[in-house]
Amino acid sequence: MTLKKKVLSVSLSSMMAFGAVTAVALPAAAVGNGPNTGHGSIQTSILHTYESLVDYLKTQDAKQETMELEVIGQTVKGRDIYMAKYISNPENPTILFLTQQHGNEQLTTEGAMEFIKHLGTGKTSRVLQNVNILVIPMLNADGAMGDVDFSLEDYLADGDRHLTRYNANKIDLNREHDKATSEMEPEARALHENVFAKYDIDYMIDLHHQGTLSETEGELVSGSILYPTNEAVKPEVLEKSKKLGSVVYNALEEKGWGHIGKYVGGNGTNIGRNGAAVRYDISTLLFEMRGMSDHYYEPYALGQKSNGYLIKQTITTLDATVKAIADGSIETADTNFWDTLPEQTTRQSEEDE
Ligand SMILES: [Zn+2]
Repeated sequence: MTLKKKVLSVSLSSMMAFGAVTAVALPAAAVGNGPNTGHGSIQTSILHTYESLVDYLKTQDAKQETMELEVIGQTVKGRDIYMAKYISNPENPTILFLTQQHGNEQLTTEGAMEFIKHLGTGKTSRVLQNVNILVIPMLNADGAMGDVDFSLEDYLADGDRHLTRYNANKIDLNREHDKATSEMEPEARALHENVFAKYDIDYMIDLHHQGTLSETEGELVSGSILYPTNEAVKPEVLEKSKKLGSVVYNALEEKGWGHIGKYVGGNGTNIGRNGAAVRYDISTLLFEMRGMSDHYYEPYALGQKSNGYLIKQTITTLDATVKAIADGSIETADTNFWDTLPEQTTRQSEEDE
């Protein structure tokens, strides 16, 4: 299905249900134009389902000679967790792109899918000679499909399903990364045992979405980034992480819709950004994009009018990093911007004031 067709299926009543009906007549707004009431209804039926994602991956796998599709494990509810692999030369540097540890943060997956398609085209496929790429889209498929053992009835989005942060057991998968793998939830265990421990990974970008009201310098951010902050991270791992951030920052800040802040996050190794860096010496970057696909708290969920630039933000991020790793330019990326990158704060929503 095309995005356009799906957008047209939004009903007026669903928009009214969120008090957003007055915003419907406004032109599609880019970042910086205020709370999500100006961004259309919160609609989940425009997003890929787990099943349509799997169909898409299998179609790309059949089309792309260099792509391999691997099942790395199963979710609590028994869904296969897929990873797209491009390994042309084991000696090449390897980057992992991970999406949807949190099931209600799906536009990163939509962007990763488009990126996978790009890797099958002549324009992008050349990078594959010099970089190995792993993509895990939708680690938390049960949360993404709302197939969980707790109620989502107070979630806001309209559409075929609700999406939630947690896995089916109501566990936050991005707080699992300091445990023995035998103690982990199945999704996290699959990631550790069958990806982190099995592949020689140099870089990882862990893709997320945050609330809608984060800002720096009075402007809402399109996303915020952060390197690993645990004190046990080796200096060279940290330095490479900061270079990875530099590549992403510079690729996005030149876009009209890109406004990137510094994320304020915890130091614990239970968080993927820190855990993967400490445990496996992977240079990591957390990318928290604006707005979640669904939530029970209104300032967290973002209407669909922002989908276009947020999906583009993911594609730009993935394209830019694989190019910089493939041509070696990441080695000389300037990390000084981190010293002046403003930390994000949260704008008070009208409801909170
Ligand atoms: Zn998240």
